[in-house]
Amino acid sequence: MTGVAELVDLRSDTVTRPTEDMRRAMADAEVGDDVYGEDRTVRALEERVAAMFGHEAALFVPSGTMGNQIGMRLVCEPGQEILCDADAHVVTYEMGAAAAIFGISTRTVVSAGGRLDAAQLIDQVRPRGDWHLTATAAIAVENTHNRGGGLVQPLEELQALWDWSRGAGVAVHLDGARIWNASVASGIDLATYGRLADTASVCFSKGLGTPVGSVLVGSADRIAAGRLWRKRLGGGMRQVGVLAAACTYALDHHLPRLGEDHELARLLAKRLGVDPAGVHTNMVVLDGVAAPLIAEAAKAQGVLVSQVSASRVRLVTHLDVDRAAVERAADVLAELLDR
Ligand SMILES: *Cc1c(COP(=O)(O)O)cnc(C)c1O
Repeated sequence: MTGVAELVDLRSDTVTRPTEDMRRAMADAEVGDDVYGEDRTVRALEERVAAMFGHEAALFVPSGTMGNQIGMRLVCEPGQEILCDADAHVVTYEMGAAAAIFGISTRTVVSAGGRLDAAQLIDQVRPRGDWHLTATAAIAVENTHNRGGGLVQPLEELQALWDWSRGAGVAVHLDGARIWNASVASGIDLATYGRLADTASVCFSKGLGTPVGSVLVGSADRIAAGRLWRKRLGGGMRQVGVLAAACTYALDHHLPRLGEDHELARLLAKRLGVDPAGVHTNMVVLDGVAAPLIAEAAKAQGVLVSQVSASRVRLVTHLDVDRAAVERAADVLAELLDR
């Protein structure tokens, strides 16, 4: 491909492709029938992830959406509600699954750019046992917050919500698709985040760079029930150790490097005149721009970006874009933005 520059794809960290070494780890995986509970590679991954988050058990699922939806079903009965931020992935990008599949009602509060405000949510909770109110069974939080531009949730808010929830009998579900990024950016370990949730779904197919895979963590009882829900949803998989091996590889080799993505996101922000203080992890948000025009013009120059709205563009750094690629994207975008 001499003379033709490769595309710089900043649309999402989901676009990462498995590396040669990851593919080798997948090819070499020991496998068995996981519906029979006989895939040792899957079991080892589940045990490892449960321990990392300070939970008793874990369940390997094909997607973050399935992890979130099963996780929410485990803490909420049909006819009850889950409260969350209006921009949360669970109510924005999951096709109405909680309602369509489980009969779970969702209610949202508008937050300041996705930032968790425990008091604001707590204020909206509706009690069980009332003769006509929909009972709030759980609150879902997202860390990092996707539509919030990769924002890391403040630990004191997570802690306040958790402390309150214990006395109130309300569960907490964590959508931790990018909890790895939150942990690397804040220096707060995964177990600390894990202990502030009853159920948590974490993704391997984002910044960690696997082709597929998420894990749901929770108590042993809940995860045993979750295993039945996974089968019911068609998520029972067979010799799936080939995929779990990619996740194990990612924990060993890609988790420690996430800080590089964050550093390159800050570099991009600086070059484009975005306040780096607003760049917590691997995302840069360009607000007040003609998104369709920018996206099209950037694409013509080999840079792919994502349009969050007509006036908002999102750039995401990841495993498949190195410093040179990010600098090339910054050159293209800076010129288009006239910055
Ligand atoms: C990507 C993502 C998910 C899960 O998405 P899948 O495509 O179903 O794996 C869940 N929550 C957040 C915040 C995400 O960014």
